[in-house]
Amino acid sequence: MVALGLLDDAIGETVEPQTKLHSFPLSDVRLDDGPFRTAQERDAKYLLRLEPDRLLHNFRVNAGLKPNAPVYGGWESVEPWIAIRCHGHTLGHYLSACAMMFASTADAKFKQRVDYIVAELHECQVAYKTGLICAFPDGQKPLDEIRETTKFVGVPWYTMHKVFAGLRDAYLHTNNKTALAVLVKLSDWAIAHTSDLSDEQFQAMLKTEHGGMNEVLADVYALTGASRFLTLAKRFSHRALLDPLSRGQDNLDRLHSNTQIPKVIGFDRLYELTGESNYQSAAKFFWNTVVERRSFVTGGNGDGEHFFSPAEFPKHLASAKTMETCCTHNMLKLTRSLFMQEPSSRYADYYERALYNGILASQDPDSGMMTYFQPTRPGYLKLYCTPFDSFWCCTGSGMENHAKYGDSIYFHDASSLYVNLFTPSTVRWDAKGLKLTQTTRFPDEEKTRFALTLKGISKFALNIRHPSWCTSMTVSVNGRPVERSDTSGRYVSLERVWRNGDQVEVNLPMSLRQESLPGQADVVALLYGPIVLAGRLGTNGLTPGADIIVNERTTGDVLKDQSNVPILPRDPEAVVKKTGPLEFRINEVTLIPYFRIAHERYTIYWETTKD
Ligand SMILES: [Zn+2]
Repeated sequence: MVALGLLDDAIGETVEPQTKLHSFPLSDVRLDDGPFRTAQERDAKYLLRLEPDRLLHNFRVNAGLKPNAPVYGGWESVEPWIAIRCHGHTLGHYLSACAMMFASTADAKFKQRVDYIVAELHECQVAYKTGLICAFPDGQKPLDEIRETTKFVGVPWYTMHKVFAGLRDAYLHTNNKTALAVLVKLSDWAIAHTSDLSDEQFQAMLKTEHGGMNEVLADVYALTGASRFLTLAKRFSHRALLDPLSRGQDNLDRLHSNTQIPKVIGFDRLYELTGESNYQSAAKFFWNTVVERRSFVTGGNGDGEHFFSPAEFPKHLASAKTMETCCTHNMLKLTRSLFMQEPSSRYADYYERALYNGILASQDPDSGMMTYFQPTRPGYLKLYCTPFDSFWCCTGSGMENHAKYGDSIYFHDASSLYVNLFTPSTVRWDAKGLKLTQTTRFPDEEKTRFALTLKGISKFALNIRHPSWCTSMTVSVNGRPVERSDTSGRYVSLERVWRNGDQVEVNLPMSLRQESLPGQADVVALLYGPIVLAGRLGTNGLTPGADIIVNERTTGDVLKDQSNVPILPRDPEAVVKKTGPLEFRINEVTLIPYFRIAHERYTIYWETTKD
């Protein structure tokens, strides 16, 4: 039972999702030195450069209050993006990111920002009177119009989802109870606003991108126990996607990918809260078909934001608009949720692959800015947003990406601790009196170590993922070999009574291997362990700074000239020389992890000779 003095509504008991595993709160995990912490620190700096008052500008205007600062540019206020009606989406992402950054770092500056924004939104909600808070330049109009589905502009529910989610995260990660109160009132506004729609009219409205409205309303139900929010979450579930997926039908060709993925995250959340199996079968089938049939080697998907036929990979490889970063962000959310229901290392393998090669790869190591697309076009380059004039969808989801690396390294049930990622970090598991410190330079070294700090003795299983890319994993405890696993794709379980000072060392030998582009066996990508390697192809034709762009729609207009990509022999592995821990050479071309490529041309895929 949660006591919520600020809420007038009767709040029942919270509803626990049915999952086999639990995650650790971000506040129980700390990243130590390594690429993820560096990315988190860059993100933290960017978050602190942004001014909440500028993000709040239109919320105050709509509520009839005087704005405290001018609005930002890009998707927040400028044509042609006004037509998308994304105004305010950034504030939602920003609130989520600051809440998660506070939980991840305990830096009070982020808590202050969360509290400030929530107080402002509360003031706007009180002034607006109906319960709504929004930042569209024409106020509630886009939400009225989309109800009628006759003439409306943009994606208002997509944008609203970010505001709902920001308030949820402010409550979940920083315990700001006003955030939950504002969220409940906003959700009640959504019920009132849609109550007279027939199911048919509601479903017609859902033809337009609406983010994860079903997911966040399911969360409001879980946080309050109020079934009216569950009813609305179900109404926000798009049958045109849910029904075929739950029957195992893949109708995804030509659909907008980042419209579908959040809906499916919501289906999976509804399964956790209701046990209704059609939601889960849809989510599992969707994950399988996207990961197994529709993804590039990095774990990214789509071209020009859309799923294409799996038979058409060769046609789409040359695009400068493949692999939208938001899609990878959302696939990871779905993967994490499926993993907690069914702790299979398949999910964890995909998570690791897409995290390094999609998410870590999406941040400019110099400016901290984010990619929109991650082009597979051979010889192209990554383009990043500007800090104050872009505010793309991927800028927003990008703010969140680097604030929550701690959320999927470790999981637990009553008697086991699962280690999914080899990331330098410390986790506190209070129920067992454990502090576990993982030390590694992975992926620059092929091993990791765990040191256990315990108040007394403690019995539990330490389940260490044996990743699919590792043929033989060995584990020693306190210097004595205890396990050699030659079957990848499972967990090595060390069940014992642990003592303070126990040390575990895990060797994870990596090897070079190739994976073909789906549907084209002679076009291959090279990987070392989970790390996708990219060929460095120089900076010919690139002016410094030209890869930081305002408008994501100009992606593809930079470096139109062809670049010379070497053709490899049929068995490229035979000519690859290892020149460093994660550095290779093929003739004159150096290969490094794709996640380290920035400000230069690259290729991920290589043609090989056909003879
Ligand atoms: Zn995006």
